[in-house]
Amino acid sequence: SKSKSLNFLEEIVQADIAAGKYPQGIFTRFPPEPNGYLHIGHAKSICLNFGLAQKFGGKTNLRFDDTNPMTEETEYVDSIKSDVAWLGFEWANELYASNYFEQIYQFAVSLISKGLAYVDDSSAEEIAALKGTPTTPGTNSPFRNRSVEENLALFSAMRNGDFADGAKVLRAKIDMAHPNMHMRDPLMYRIRHVPHHRTGNQWCIYPMYDFAHGQSDSMEGITHSICTLEFDVHRPLYDWFINKLEIFPSHQYEFARLNLSHTVMSKRKLLQMVNEKVVSGWDDPRMPTISALRRRGYTAASIRNFCERIGVAKRDNLIDISLLEFCIREDLNKIADRVMAVMDPVKLIITNYPEGQTEDLLVENNPEDPETGKRVVPFSRELYIEREDFMVEPPKKFFRLGPGLQVRLKGAYIITCDHFELNTDGSVKEIHASYIPESKSGQDTSGIHVKGTIHWVSIPHAIQAEVRLFDRLLIVEDASELGDDFVKFINPESLNIIDNAFVEPSLAQATIGEAVQFIRKGYYCLDRDSKPDHLVFNRTVTLKDTWAK
Ligand code: ATP
Ligand code: MG
Ligand code: MG
Repeated sequence: SKSKSLNFLEEIVQADIAAGKYPQGIFTRFPPEPNGYLHIGHAKSICLNFGLAQKFGGKTNLRFDDTNPMTEETEYVDSIKSDVAWLGFEWANELYASNYFEQIYQFAVSLISKGLAYVDDSSAEEIAALKGTPTTPGTNSPFRNRSVEENLALFSAMRNGDFADGAKVLRAKIDMAHPNMHMRDPLMYRIRHVPHHRTGNQWCIYPMYDFAHGQSDSMEGITHSICTLEFDVHRPLYDWFINKLEIFPSHQYEFARLNLSHTVMSKRKLLQMVNEKVVSGWDDPRMPTISALRRRGYTAASIRNFCERIGVAKRDNLIDISLLEFCIREDLNKIADRVMAVMDPVKLIITNYPEGQTEDLLVENNPEDPETGKRVVPFSRELYIEREDFMVEPPKKFFRLGPGLQVRLKGAYIITCDHFELNTDGSVKEIHASYIPESKSGQDTSGIHVKGTIHWVSIPHAIQAEVRLFDRLLIVEDASELGDDFVKFINPESLNIIDNAFVEPSLAQATIGEAVQFIRKGYYCLDRDSKPDHLVFNRTVTLKDTWAK
C-alpha cells in the first residue's frame, strides 16, 4: 500500500539518520503565528512535523512564531494549543519566538560587529526603489558604509526607543546585485512602538521573519525545519544567517502547501469573513478551520487520514474538498449510531393501530458494529414521515409511499397506503395507512416483500429540532486567484436552516459533537448552540457525494 513507501521528507530524514548525522535524534517544530485560528492546511503541516518525529523516534516543538506584535493575540495561542492537542499530537516543548528576543538581539549585535549588518535611515519607499528588479541589480544604500561603532550605537538607540516607527531599520549587508532578491540586504529589524501580547512594552524593535525563524530553529536544535514552497527563495538567507552566526545548522525543507477547492485558507481572508460577519465566527461550521470542522462533526482521525491520503508533494496542486468529505464519511460510517429524523414532516396515521398505544421497538444502533447494541424507539398510531417519501401519482419505480403502495417503516411494520388528504393549497395534509401486524421487523411472518424502507418518528414522542445544513463555502472551485472580493463568491446555499425537523426521543441524550447518522439523510451532530428545549443539529456531511459539478 501507499503508506508503506516513504514520502520525500521521510526519505531525507531516513538518509540523514543512516548517515549518522543526528545521533541526538531528529527534532521538528510546528511554528504557527498566533494571528488566527488553525485551518486544515495547518493540519497538514502538523501531521507532517509530528508524523516525521513519531516515525523516526524524534521530538516536535510547538513554537509560536510571535514576532509581529500587530496581529497576534493570546486568544489565538489558546485555540492553537487546543487544536493541536485535539488532532492527537503531543509537543515536546511549548515555546515562543518572543522568548528569544534578547538572544536574537545579541545575534544581530554579533553580525554588526562582524561588519555584516548596518542601520539604514532610508524610508520603506527609498529601500524599495533601490532594490532593483529580478533582472537588474539594486543600488547600495547611502547608509551602507557606516562604521561598526556607529551601527552598534544606533542599533542600541533603536532598542532604547530613541527613534519613531519607520525611522530606521537594521539590514544584513550581503549583496545588492544578488540574483536572489531576498539576498539584497534584507531587513533584520524594524521599529514598532506596539505592545506585544507576551513581552508587553519591553521591546520597540522586532525581528523580521527571516531573522527570527532560522535563529529560533537553531537555538532549539531543530534538525529538519519544514515549511511551504514559497519559502524556498528564503533558504539561501536562512543558511547565510546560520553560517555567519556560526550556530547550530538547522536545515530548511519545503513541501507543497495544501490548497483545497471551494474554500479559502489564508488567515487574512478567514479573518475578513469573521469581521464582515459573512460567517458567525472562526468556528462557523462552514469555515475550513480545525475548530469549525470539529464543531461540524469532523473527527480528528478523519483529518489525520485526509492528510495522509493527500501525501506530500514538491509542487502545488488543488485538492478537491470531496476527498475530505470522503474521509469523514468513511470514519463516521464505522462509528456513528443510526437514528431517525424527519426533516420535512408530513403526518401518517396508522388507522388500524389502537389509539393511545405505544410500542417500544428495539432497533439496532449500527449495523457496521453489532457491539453497539440496540435502542428503544417508540412506535404509535401517529407518525411523521418525510414529505418526499409520499407521492400522489408515483412513477413506476417509486419504491416508497403512494396510494395503494406498500413500504416498510424502518425497524417497525410494513404498511399499505389507503388514503390521503390534501390542504387547500394542494399539498398533502395527511396520509392514512394500515399496518400488517405479522410484518414486525425481526419477526416477520407476513410473507410480503417490499422494496423500500422509509424512516419515521412517532409524533407524541418526537422532539422538534433545528437542523443546519451546510454546503461548500464558495461556489468557485479554485479561489486562489480571487482578491478581497472573494466574498462575492460565497455559496448562497452554504447554510440552510430547517427549523421544523423532528428527531426520535433517544436524541434527548445526545451530547455536543457526538456523531449520529440520520438514516437516509447523512451524518449529524449536536451543535453547541443547543439548549435542553431547543436541539440544534449540524449536518457534518451527506451520505453520498451529491455536489453537482
Ligand atoms: P496563512 O497564510 O494561512 O496565514 P501562514 O503560513 O502564514 O498561513 P503560519 O501560522 O505561519 O500561517 O503557519 C504555520 C505553519 O503551517 C507554517 O510552517 C506554514 O508553512 C504551515 N502552513 C500554513 N498554511 C499551510 C497550508 N495551506 N498547507 C500546509 N502547510 C501550511
Ligand atoms: Mg507564516
Ligand atoms: Mg500568514
